[in-house]
Amino acid sequence: MSHWDTFKDFQKKQKAYELVLALAGWDSNTEAPRQSIPYRSEMLSIISGEHFSLMTDPQYKEAIDALYEEKETLNDQQFREVQKAKKSLDKIIKIPKAEYVEYSKLTTMAQRIWEEAKEKGDFKHFKPYLKKIINYKKRMIKFRDDKAIPYNVLLDDFEEGMTIERYDAFFQTIKDELVPFVKQVLAKSKNDDFPFLDRKYPKHDQKDFVDYITNVFDFDFNRGVVKESVHPFTWNTHSQDVRLTTRYMEDYLPASIYAAMHELGHAMYEQQIDETLDSTNLNTGASMGIHESQSRFYENTIGRSQAFWDTHFSALKKRFPDQLHDVDAETFTRASNRVEESFIRVEADELTYPLHILIRYEIERDIFNNGLGVDDLERVWNEKMKAYLNLDVNRPSDGVLQDVHWSDGMFGYFPTYALGSAYAAQIYYALNEALDIDQAIRDNDIARINQWFKENIHCYGSRLSPDQILNKVTRESFNPKYYIRYLKEKYSKLYLED
Ligand code: ZN
Repeated sequence: MSHWDTFKDFQKKQKAYELVLALAGWDSNTEAPRQSIPYRSEMLSIISGEHFSLMTDPQYKEAIDALYEEKETLNDQQFREVQKAKKSLDKIIKIPKAEYVEYSKLTTMAQRIWEEAKEKGDFKHFKPYLKKIINYKKRMIKFRDDKAIPYNVLLDDFEEGMTIERYDAFFQTIKDELVPFVKQVLAKSKNDDFPFLDRKYPKHDQKDFVDYITNVFDFDFNRGVVKESVHPFTWNTHSQDVRLTTRYMEDYLPASIYAAMHELGHAMYEQQIDETLDSTNLNTGASMGIHESQSRFYENTIGRSQAFWDTHFSALKKRFPDQLHDVDAETFTRASNRVEESFIRVEADELTYPLHILIRYEIERDIFNNGLGVDDLERVWNEKMKAYLNLDVNRPSDGVLQDVHWSDGMFGYFPTYALGSAYAAQIYYALNEALDIDQAIRDNDIARINQWFKENIHCYGSRLSPDQILNKVTRESFNPKYYIRYLKEKYSKLYLED
């Protein structure tokens, strides 16, 4: 067998295991009864073990190394496949197995401790675990590449091509331009009051409206499923099977609507990837950041627009005639874009959201590159919260303990959230040149927007890097100025002009 055939053969087997593991994962997040956990975990750990063996098989590694040597014999797509496989392999194979096993045990334990600490509001309880996780991370980075700048290794794991240098420039722009602008808007928005948000919206009718939205966005039910879960997510194994969930809160109507739109953005991306890529490891989105750019575009740019609610508010009102009897499309749009100072990242609005990420980015960077210690985290967190959002944190569960990410060792992930929004803005200006976004929404023809995304971004899967996609679509590399421009245009119109 040629090296290429060996490589593809292993990939196919790995994908078979991945399909089974993913299906089990979907099941446990949506349908599986609680009591099924112990047996299921044991059985699945066997499948995971087999998958791991396939991933680390010496023959597979040999094939990848050989293909790397003879890369001139490969076409662009084949090289991209090998490159991507090599990157995931390096992440596992360069770390001693014992270290890897210990680390998995540690993070499993740490997540439980984090939950307890958060509940008790006691950062001290979590600190020793966080210290250990960070030390492991630092060691693992060394195993992988002892010459690299440590935090850069983590940043690149979540967003290919991103570095401290590039993120510093991005977040500096946010600090200089957005922090003062947010203060201006907050001074105006504090008088906002939307009493209709406190009314009760039965889940049954919310579900009906989510169905309606799913059709408006042209989601293909022949290749997809929509369900409910506590934490909304999108799941996919290939372009022909893409599933999403939303959550329902009877006392807060926007939750189900915007969670569904967000996940629909992720889901449309996966459904529109060229199906010929399904036999490769490129049949998924280009990166975390590009993926998030799509979800945020569907949620914020389309979903929270005046055009959207001018077109669809009557459909919402039809389902909630009593609760919305005194509300019009404009008020609903305003309520959907309400700007508020908030402690909690996941509850933050579109405008203040990047400031929450700024705090996390600076802290992570300083942990890995500038010797910031765990003992100082709470103090530093609270100082930044005061400086950027003018809030005094009184409980660590509203501050340094609020996110699950660090207890799972996910450092380098947060910045992709803000990056996704910033990509979305850069793409927005390019798309608006190609077609009139507002008009497409008013024509109830989101399919037109989907089609543009399909041709320009989605169809490529991860054949192209994030940089290549941006350059192709917007004719320049990532440039944060579009994000600032987009936010200032949108929120000046909502709050500062009248
Ligand atoms: Zn998302």
